[in-house]
Amino acid sequence: MPPRDTKPMKTRHDTTRNAAEAALVTTDDQHDSSDTQAMALRARRRSDDRGCFIIRGARVIDPASKLDRVCDIVVAEGKVQSIGSGSRKAHADGATEIDADGLILSPGLIDPHVHLREPGHEHKETIATGTHAAAVGGFTSVCCMPNTSPAIDTPELVRFIYDRANLSARCRVFPVAAGTKGREGKEIAEILLMHRAGAVAFSDDGDCIASAGVMSRVFAAVAQTGSAFMQHCQEPTLTQGASMHAGTVSARLGLSGWPRMAEEIIIERDVRLLRHLRSPCRYHAQHLSSSGSVDIIRLARKDGLPVTGEVTPHHLLLTHDACDHYNTLAKVNPPLREKSDITALIKGVADGTITILGTDHAPHSAEEKSLPFEDAPMGLVGLETALPLFAESLVASGAISWPRLIALMTIEPARLCGLDALGLGSIKKGQTADLTLIDPKAKWTLDPAAMVGKSKNTPFAGRRLTGRAVATFVGGVLTHQDDALIDRTTESASHSMP
Ligand SMILES: [Zn+2]
Repeated sequence: MPPRDTKPMKTRHDTTRNAAEAALVTTDDQHDSSDTQAMALRARRRSDDRGCFIIRGARVIDPASKLDRVCDIVVAEGKVQSIGSGSRKAHADGATEIDADGLILSPGLIDPHVHLREPGHEHKETIATGTHAAAVGGFTSVCCMPNTSPAIDTPELVRFIYDRANLSARCRVFPVAAGTKGREGKEIAEILLMHRAGAVAFSDDGDCIASAGVMSRVFAAVAQTGSAFMQHCQEPTLTQGASMHAGTVSARLGLSGWPRMAEEIIIERDVRLLRHLRSPCRYHAQHLSSSGSVDIIRLARKDGLPVTGEVTPHHLLLTHDACDHYNTLAKVNPPLREKSDITALIKGVADGTITILGTDHAPHSAEEKSLPFEDAPMGLVGLETALPLFAESLVASGAISWPRLIALMTIEPARLCGLDALGLGSIKKGQTADLTLIDPKAKWTLDPAAMVGKSKNTPFAGRRLTGRAVATFVGGVLTHQDDALIDRTTESASHSMP
């Protein structure tokens, strides 16, 4: 991995961070009416939201610094002011106190793989609605994929995403830019310029770069930026017209199948290409679905190649049986596979082969999902349910601990996308306060009608879930607060100076 410090990234990152923080402060301005009283109220709420919070008695888990203990955290002026105890005196005036007994305080969750659908598919999702869903799910940063219309394949479009996020986002938004022009897999895009404009990684997600020659050139270009290339691993000629996993269910339903091999061949090929590059770029295999893929990544990592793998909640919990009765809500790319794949994916997470968790949040309208199975678009929404679903599949199953789960959702994706250099993905004194307060025991039932994202295409409707984000802070701004938090919150009296 090229040393990040030598790259001229600091300024860009600083700009990015300032832009993201500015966005959160200006969000309310977009909705201000001319009513002065309402404006005054909003201004006060805004300063309160960015005010002082004392989070008492949470189990603070910061995998980056190996912190895992019950303590108090004070947040003021957008930053973590102190971690420890004895903060009662210093910050009591006018602070909001949160009794976090029994809760986990984690660095703000980071999703390296979302589709916000803007520009071009605003009927499915927008940056405003998608980041609202992110905040509710406990996410403070998301990396959005470039399969928009037009595709994010120029520096101007990278900047457009930052500009739109500044106007409407509830969390930090970092664009992942296309590796090839128009995501067509033919001509290499302006990778260096897009990197300078703020692209945090590169991907043609939604499609695979099928040509080994083009892939090799893209790897070489991405290597010069120090960023990662994120591959959507799907050999296209093996999956033409396929709408679900090639197995007994597809045979019974008379649907053409998407074999595991189509994923494995691409990862195998890419690893081989990387081995032949003098200084390979970092390589990230997105949304793994097949047991064989885990084996290929395990071997590559053992050989010291800069390869990472990602898994989604649905690939850890659902099999192709979910597509029965032509259930389009379970139609996703890559497809849901079999129990043996789930077992291998969980083992891959447990033994450190898979180090990144992503949602592949892929909103589609109800009209689109009500088409016949073969015509319906692939994908499901994930931001509002990822935390409890990962907790169920990985922690409740005994595969990993809460601290490891939090690492996979914070510092690991932060490192993948260079966000750790912005101070994201960890909790440190003096560092920007992106934090997620989690109730690991909260029990709830998923009701799509209660979801805040624009599209509700989830196969998990009606599922009993355990665990949820009860508060989300971005740069010290409260971007989401669960009703359950009200009983735990008290406003300290403001004392006047003697
Ligand atoms: Zn994909």
